[in-house]
Amino acid sequence: MQDCIFCKIVNKEIPAEVVYENDAVLVFKDIRPAAPVHLLLIPKKHIPTFFNLEEEDAHLLGEIHLAAVRVARGSGLEKGFRLVSNCNEDAGQLVFHIHYHLMAGRKLHWPPG
Ligand code: AMP
Ligand code: ZN
Repeated sequence: MQDCIFCKIVNKEIPAEVVYENDAVLVFKDIRPAAPVHLLLIPKKHIPTFFNLEEEDAHLLGEIHLAAVRVARGSGLEKGFRLVSNCNEDAGQLVFHIHYHLMAGRKLHWPPG
C-alpha cells in the first residue's frame, strides 16, 4: 500500500533494523523503544487492522507468533517477553498495518495503561 510506512519498510523504500524475515513476516526494531528489547512483527501483506482480517490471513498470525518465539530464543529471552497489538484508535494504534510489539529485557508491568 503506497502511503503505509510499514509497507515501505517491507519494500526496502525506507530503512529499518531488520532482525528476522521470511516470506510472510518481517521483524524489525521499534524506532522508539519502550523496553531494552522492543521489536515490531508485521505480516508483509498490508492489513490495516484486525477488523480487516480475512479467513485466508489466519495463518499470518501463527507465522508472527512463530517468528516471535524464534527471535526470542535467538536473543536469549527465555525469561519472558510480551507480545501485544493495539487495534484501532482507543487502543493507541498509530500505524494502520497490523503489527505486534515484542517487548522484553526488563520486568514489564501489568496491566498496561
Ligand atoms: P502502535 O501505536 O501500536 O501503532 O505502534 C506503532 C509503533 O511503530 C510505535 O511504537 C513507533 O515507535 C513505531 N514506528 C513508527 N515508525 C517506525 C519506523 N519507521 N521504524 C520503526 N518503528 C516505527
Ligand atoms: Zn502496509
